[in-house]
Order: sequence, then structure tokens, then C-alpha cells
Amino acid sequence: MSIQMVDLRGQYLRIKDEVDAGIARVLETTQFINGAEVKGFEAELSDALDGVGTLGVANGTDALQVAFMALGVGPGDEVITPSFTFVATAEAVGLLGATPVFADIDPNTFNMDPAAVEALITERTKAIVPVHLFGQCADLDPILELACHHNLAVVEDTAQAVGARYKGRAAGTMGGFGTLSFFPSKNLGCYGDGGAVLSGIPEWLDQARLIANHGSKKKYHNEVVGVNSRLDAMQAAVLRAKLPHLDAFTAARQAAADRYDALLSDLEEIETPHRAHYGTHVFHQYTIRVSGNDPVRRDALMDHLNALNIPCYVYYPIPLHLLPIYKDNPDSCRFGEMTHTLQAANEVLSLPMHTELTADEQQQVADAVRSFFAR
Ligand SMILES: *Cc1c(COP(=O)(O)O)cnc(C)c1O
Repeated sequence: MSIQMVDLRGQYLRIKDEVDAGIARVLETTQFINGAEVKGFEAELSDALDGVGTLGVANGTDALQVAFMALGVGPGDEVITPSFTFVATAEAVGLLGATPVFADIDPNTFNMDPAAVEALITERTKAIVPVHLFGQCADLDPILELACHHNLAVVEDTAQAVGARYKGRAAGTMGGFGTLSFFPSKNLGCYGDGGAVLSGIPEWLDQARLIANHGSKKKYHNEVVGVNSRLDAMQAAVLRAKLPHLDAFTAARQAAADRYDALLSDLEEIETPHRAHYGTHVFHQYTIRVSGNDPVRRDALMDHLNALNIPCYVYYPIPLHLLPIYKDNPDSCRFGEMTHTLQAANEVLSLPMHTELTADEQQQVADAVRSFFAR
């Protein structure tokens, strides 16, 4: 079996009985939309995340959109996000007629730099969206402080960091809203699309629930313009089977990260992931930097690994502000100094990382990385 970037099948086989029983349960009840399975998952997810309020939605992108809609984000508003992230973080901002404003990152964590955020705040700013990229939290306290001072909402894009902690607090539970994705390859992935909105403020979660359900509490009594975004029962059943294993899944990722560190950290040409002192890293990705700020050199390492049948991937080669959707429409976004964002996009390379990765496979990955620099 060749090394895989993500091994969904290997993980499924280990928990097959629980997953299959969950799916069978849904088939028996035929309660495919809403109902007990979704409610049960929402309650269990809440327990796992320090009791925060939870709402299942159709995917992680919708979770962001529903949160923004609940906050009333609209034309004329600005929302500050990183540029070094998956496009979904900013997508809904533009869809709602608001303007994404891109802040530079901290080069150590790849996450939003609070000082860069502060410099971008204007009267139009409505919300700040820190992304906990690759499985590690952004430095939230200074961001929460800025938000408090300027009366802004914070929406934590926690698609890559479920289970991570920041000064002991669960990722996604510290801002007014948090959002999760259960895309199959995420740390808590279902077998299709799924997502969740988190909030510790009951009125905010109620508003999100209203919006995700066509803007109605009572059928055919629609109060606001909403969307249809639900976590379906089949996916909720899969997630209920997987959630009790999340801590073990996280520990497996962390153990794999420790092994990579031991195998690679003496190499001068690369940097292994920085672990911020303020929290835990759940290693959605194990992302190295190829020093030199040179994408050609990084891509050469990628090609070398691929030629040896080692998968690896660049998350993300193009910062959002340079994507055609923004670059070709100057009014579509705003951004500040982007030095660290540009360098990260030139240097990052994510190595295979999943719950089933073996020490032997990691040795092969490390040998392949070393053979590139020994040439
Ligand atoms: C995956 C991801 C999303 C979107 O989640 P989907 O479930 O695929 O819609 C949003 N933000 C980040 C940072 C992600 O990694």
C-alpha cells in the first residue's frame, strides 16, 4: 500500500461497526432531515467543546455564511480575514455584498497577526475572522481585545482545528461565533459534506438557527430571508460514531507530528512546524517551510517526493488577494502589507498527515526529503 496524504478508508475500517450501525439506524427511522440523530450529535458536540451552543449545517462554508448573516453583514461592511487560507473564509463576505479585508500573518503560526488586523480596522469593519490554520489557534486574546474595543464580532474559522485549545479554551468557542467543517479530510470528517456553527451566546445561535432554516422557526411563517443549510441525519450518524474517537485521532496526529519533528528538525534547509506556547496543535496538516522564499525550490522538492510516490501538497500556493476573483476586481477587497503571507505561499509544503500514518511510512517520507537536499 503506497503512502497516502489522507487515509479515510483505513480509519473507516477501524470504526466500521460503529459507523455502519449509525447509518443503519438512520435508514431504519427514515428521519433523514433534522430529528433525533442531528439533535443527538449537536448535544454531543457541545459536550466535547466546553458546552458551547451548536448548530449543524450543510458544510463549513455555509457555517461561515450563516454566521455572517446572523451578524447582519451586508453591503458597505468590511470583514477582516487572513489572505493565507482556503477561499471559503472570504467567499461569503463578498456574496453578502460586504468587502473582505486581508490581514498579514504571523510567520511562525501562519495565522492572522493581531497587529496587522489592528491597522486595517475602520468605521466599516463589522467582524474579524481568525482562521486556526493547519490545526493551531491564532493568537486570540489580542484579537478578542481589539474586537471588544472596537465593538466588532469575532468569527473563528475552526474548519481545521476542531479539538485544539488556546490557553485551555476550546477552539471555536471563544469568539461570538465559531465555525466547523466536517469535510471528509478534516480532523472530524463525515462521509459527505457537513459543518457546524458554534456560539456561546444563545440569541446569536438562535438567529443562526433561524437563518439556516429558511428564516423560519415555525413552518411557513418565514421571518427573515434565510437559506436551506442543514446537517443531514446520515452525516450526523457518522459524526456520532467518530466523535468519541476524536481525542484518540488527535493524539495519533500529534504522535505522527512528533515523529516527523524527530526525523526532520535537524535539516537546515527546512523548518518544521512551530508550536505556539499558548495552545495545542492538532495537526490538520504537518506543514514544513522550504527556506529561501523560492517557490521553484519548494516545487522541486514536491516533484522529487511525488516521483518517489510520496504525496505532498501546497496549502496554499496563491494568497486570496492574488486570486483572479479579487485581483481582477480592485474594488472587491482591500489589504495591507503582505510580506509574510507571500513568503509562506512560496515556502510551505504539507506532508502526509492522518490518523493511520505509520512510523515506517514517515521514515520513507523523511528519507525522501533528505535525499532531495543531499543531491
Ligand atoms: C475546509 C475549510 C472551509 C470550508 O469547509 P467546507 O465544509 O469544505 O465548506 C472553510 N475554511 C477553512 C479554513 C477550511 O479549511
